[in-house]
Amino acid sequence: MILGQPIWKFVIDVYIVWILVYFLLKFLINNKKIFSISLSVLFVYIIYYLTNLGDILASSTLLLYVVEWVPVIIIIVMAPDIRRALEIVWKNEQVREDFEMGSERTKQHIIDAVMVLASQKIGALITIEKHNTLDQYAERAIMMNSDVSKEVLVNIFTPNTPLHDGAVIIRGDQILCAGAYFVLSDNQNYDKTMGSRHRAGLGISEITDSMTILVSEETGNISVAIEGILLKMNDREKLLEYLNMFMK
Ligand code: ATP
Ligand code: MG
Repeated sequence: MILGQPIWKFVIDVYIVWILVYFLLKFLINNKKIFSISLSVLFVYIIYYLTNLGDILASSTLLLYVVEWVPVIIIIVMAPDIRRALEIVWKNEQVREDFEMGSERTKQHIIDAVMVLASQKIGALITIEKHNTLDQYAERAIMMNSDVSKEVLVNIFTPNTPLHDGAVIIRGDQILCAGAYFVLSDNQNYDKTMGSRHRAGLGISEITDSMTILVSEETGNISVAIEGILLKMNDREKLLEYLNMFMK
């Protein structure tokens, strides 16, 4: 008997508490905003506890209302952040078992397309899926299921065509869909003037293990978003290096 319960119950007890604490901490650490709000809430609860303890009537009654409503208010106000933090926590759970990266040919076609798009200053957003499924984004986009080719990719992003807005998602050797929309990153470390295309690429790289290639229509610059960072690709060789690393 430990803590008044049989050992097997105690073990399950400790295990459940451990899982809860683990996910709670991971959830809080992943999101600074939720973390700081949680600290403020904790502060309110402590003050409430103290006023209650000391029988300070008016404050404790008032604080009781605050304490009762705090969870509801937080859930409403923080819904997008909570969703984001949960997505990061679940990132490793949403794994595709049958995943296979694209072939050498696919890689070359992607690079060729990106070089053409960059030279003509055509904005593009190409996300390559890895373990974490991007189905939830593809479902709301225009399904393609076509082979990856330089010509198709360039055609998709050509301005004033129906598919040019949003992202192309590549799964293995296939263009899964075009016109996909991602949740924008609100990473404050990047320039506030950074546009929505780059924030979308950064956003999907924060919540999945995908890699995104971005071409800016303003400058023709090529960047890669991976693991929540945006890297500028100065030439074809550097892009090839990253694709080789990623598509192994
Ligand atoms: P650029 O350097 O090419 O101008 P940018 O980062 O400054 O890129 P915007 O100028 O805002 O970004 O680019 C707008 C384009 O980005 C839209 O036309 C659309 O194709 C794409 N885009 C905007 N929001 C999203 C999103 N949430 N998900 C995917 N693509 C998006
Ligand atoms: Mg712009």
